[in-house]
Amino acid sequence: MADVQMAEAETFAFQAEINQLLSLIINTFYSNKEIFLRELISNSSDALDKIRFESLTDKSKLDAQPELFIRLVPDKANKTLSIIDSGIGMTKADLVNNLGTIARSGTKEFMEALQAGADVSMIGQFGVGFYSAYLVAEKVIVTTKHNDDEQYVWESQAGGSFTVTRDVNGEQLGRGTKITLFLKEDQLEYLEERRIKDLVKKHSEFISYPIYLWTEKTTEKEISDDEDDEPKKDEEGAVEEVDEDKEKEKGKKKKIKEVSYEWQLINKQKPIWLRKPEEITKEEYASFYKSLTNDWEEHLAVKHFSVEGQLEFKAILFVPKRAPFDLFDSRKKMNNIKLYVRRVFIMDNCEELMPEYLGFVKGVVDSDDLPLNISREMLQQNKILKVIRKNLVKKCIEMFNEIAENKEDYNKFYEAFSKNLKLGIHEDSQNRAKLADLLRYHSTKSGDDLTSLKDYVTRMKEGQKDIYYITGESKKAVENSPFLERLKKKGYEVLYMVDAIDEYAVGQLKEYDGKKLVSATKEGLKLDDDSEEEKKKKEEKKKSFENLCKIIKDILGDKVEKVVVSDRIVDSPCCLVTGEYGWTANMERIMKAQALRDTSMSSYMSSKKTMEINPDNGIMEELRKRAEADQNDKSVKDLVLLLFETALLTSGFSLDDPNTFAARIHRMLKLGLSIEEEEEGAGEDADMPALEETGEESKMEEVD
Ligand code: ADP
Repeated sequence: MADVQMAEAETFAFQAEINQLLSLIINTFYSNKEIFLRELISNSSDALDKIRFESLTDKSKLDAQPELFIRLVPDKANKTLSIIDSGIGMTKADLVNNLGTIARSGTKEFMEALQAGADVSMIGQFGVGFYSAYLVAEKVIVTTKHNDDEQYVWESQAGGSFTVTRDVNGEQLGRGTKITLFLKEDQLEYLEERRIKDLVKKHSEFISYPIYLWTEKTTEKEISDDEDDEPKKDEEGAVEEVDEDKEKEKGKKKKIKEVSYEWQLINKQKPIWLRKPEEITKEEYASFYKSLTNDWEEHLAVKHFSVEGQLEFKAILFVPKRAPFDLFDSRKKMNNIKLYVRRVFIMDNCEELMPEYLGFVKGVVDSDDLPLNISREMLQQNKILKVIRKNLVKKCIEMFNEIAENKEDYNKFYEAFSKNLKLGIHEDSQNRAKLADLLRYHSTKSGDDLTSLKDYVTRMKEGQKDIYYITGESKKAVENSPFLERLKKKGYEVLYMVDAIDEYAVGQLKEYDGKKLVSATKEGLKLDDDSEEEKKKKEEKKKSFENLCKIIKDILGDKVEKVVVSDRIVDSPCCLVTGEYGWTANMERIMKAQALRDTSMSSYMSSKKTMEINPDNGIMEELRKRAEADQNDKSVKDLVLLLFETALLTSGFSLDDPNTFAARIHRMLKLGLSIEEEEEGAGEDADMPALEETGEESKMEEVD
């Protein structure tokens, strides 16, 4: 502090969530602390990627430090381990923002995951890997130099705050970042050469920049006495004498141990994608996958291939075992393909390489044809890239089909990524048919298993032309739906589409293997394979109910488009179907749940409901008799409204006014319990909305 040249330290408070995270990292016991090194090396590698990419279009960006490297320096005397890189570095603003004041979305998610028993090694996936330094260090100093700013020092012992100081006197980095960890007393193992080498081998083997370790080398040397007086200092090392020799053998030749230091390259692997697939073990792929993705688990599937001919590239694609926590977070670009051009890293997350729906696939692509100095802007129109992309999508689908050969694996895959496949069906018209083969659904016949469309087709009954499905909120909500009654009776299988995205996907898919996909809840469901005689009987019945249909329509008014005699229900009195091209009840539910939806859409898309009534149902028969006996029978109106509201529920809609519905039900209950209106008093029903119709209870009673 006495130094006049010393710049003033500015103190900043850690953002609250980051502070919590730090306490959690410091105070909770984790045995797997070693992952800190992987995280810091991975950050260095990212920083090197960034400066290399910038230098492709502007060579001068490398001037301050032309070499790209990562260096590890254990210092036993000071109990520090430093990780130095010549990456892009950080400006003062970067330091303040990235290392303390702006929390990433992953901060909270990671803490929740930790508290739910997740392993600390998952930290990298949540984008807060830097803080893993505090697993082993009590104090961390980050010295950094960005091309656009002076050199700065960040320092913190956690405890709520950090300081940032301009580094006037310190050793100048040129460009890059040096992270110095002041190791806790019980973490000194990370100063050992062996330990560091093993860790780099285990976790950072595939980092594509050289990692050098500052290593101590001891050589024994015989020297004569006179040489001994003034032990020479090696340029970068010290010379230690061997004590016994000095005492016993004065004046004679003696042995001394000479200690010198050197940078030892500790990652020598050539890029794995250049090697032959048959020579790579599963473990090597797993280890590469982990280093590529920060995943703590192995991959579920891998596809390693090269394309030759007019266009040449090599690629390795991986499917993870799980979906990341932020799979559909639209703020985060989910492309995970690293692009290389002739072994040189070009960029992460090259969006042009994969469609959005395959954003969960990770991997590398190394092209021989692209120019090295390609920019993001150029990528967008690049024809070569378009061809690569087409190939990658094809290979992804091949890989998914390979996963499907093992049922257990496929279940895992499907659980994690079925939404992506369905998004693909929605968006990728070229591959729609191939993607449809990968779909799986529960159905009226699949039991606990899932069925593919292909298997569905093999089970289709003779004469069955279409593939039937029902959409809804859950399997439970649809499996007893009135819409399925007739289909089930006829032995037709119905697929349960209970994922919100199914509505969108099926809307695009429309058919499979030449067979139309038909919704069981929409208008136009025709099951006309009855005999002539049956048809005639039905026609007659239909006729006899025409009048009732008219009466119901009059009562319901705009609530329904029309009222018709149903072909699809067997037991229930009635149901509400939607127009063939409008929203289903399920879609209406989904759209209502979307807070920011465009409400103008809902007016014309929202379901135009058709009430279908079941002429074979006792309630309908009774209703018909009454309506015909007395056009103005008040109980008929009450009953119709009640039937309509109940049908809303059983057909998957929601009630606009549940209180009125409840009031109607309560009245029915009272009738059932023979409670007279007068006895009611000002009980709990006092604020119940009045019924549209009162009186005539005696008639309603008969309905039960
Ligand atoms: P992530 O690396 O997943 O983004 P971290 O918490 O590990 O999250 O790092 C936060 C940010 O700090 C990084 O995104 C990067 O901008 C910056 N950073 C960390 N380490 C370095 C480094 N060695 N060189 C340059 N920037 C770095």
